[in-house]
Amino acid sequence: MQFQDQVVVVTGASRGIGRSIAEAFAAEGAKVACVATTIEGASGTAEAIGGVAFAADVSNQESVEALFEAVTAQLGTPSVLVNNAGITRDTLLIRMKEDDWDRVIAVNLKGAFLCTKAVAKSMMKARYGRIINISSVVGQGGAAGQANYAAAKAGLFGLTKSVAKELGSRGITCNAVAPGFIETDMTSGLSEDFKQMVEKTAPIARLGTPADISPAVLFLASQNSGYITGQTITVDGGLTL
Ligand code: NAP
Repeated sequence: MQFQDQVVVVTGASRGIGRSIAEAFAAEGAKVACVATTIEGASGTAEAIGGVAFAADVSNQESVEALFEAVTAQLGTPSVLVNNAGITRDTLLIRMKEDDWDRVIAVNLKGAFLCTKAVAKSMMKARYGRIINISSVVGQGGAAGQANYAAAKAGLFGLTKSVAKELGSRGITCNAVAPGFIETDMTSGLSEDFKQMVEKTAPIARLGTPADISPAVLFLASQNSGYITGQTITVDGGLTL
């Protein structure tokens, strides 16, 4: 019960990796704020784990400010923020519309900025905080058809390091987790050929599951990781070695 009574905010908690992260925190005693775009989606997870559901669009400043006011009023001051909400709008660069670029950057990168800004003051006051950004191996290596997503996920590394430098003296760490290919709704459209390539290439010869990601997040959110900041843990079965 290493997160007993700590308030943990997980964005994108309705399904996939975020749901698994929310489950893992709840199993360790945390009061988990499960955030998704709809209250129905967030409630599915919250009811299953004994958390509280919140609806917000992480790309919208007003929505994010209202979210953190509501979380603080209902659960207390967050000590952990997991910026996990994300979307893809994959297509080749020459076909990519301006809106495909803007929306992916807005949710994956600006969303993390807005949520981090919204918790920073209260974490600074508490002189304690853990911020974990869910990036991607695609942010490290790029990917054809994902210029928008790769740019957003690469941007998260810059955000992570900058926040680590700004807030370290206040007892706040900020780190990233870079998953490889994980079986969720986001990757359900991948071809069988691509999945077989992953299975052949990765030393751990399978796609990942959401449960493979949450232990790295919980470690970075724990009190034991207080001397680690601005870093990335890659969780990809060795695919990018
Ligand atoms: P997913 O199954 O598609 O779930 C995405 C989550 O993000 C959902 O809970 C969704 O809520 C939420 N979300 C989307 N737009 C949002 C917004 N504007 N405001 C608030 N919440 C929003 O995705 P996933 O595969 O679990 O991915 C989770 C994170 O891991 C993402 O950041 C993704 O980029 C990253 N990642 C995934 C993989 C992979 O292989 N799956 C690999 C590397 C990194 P709704 O249900 O309400 O839409």
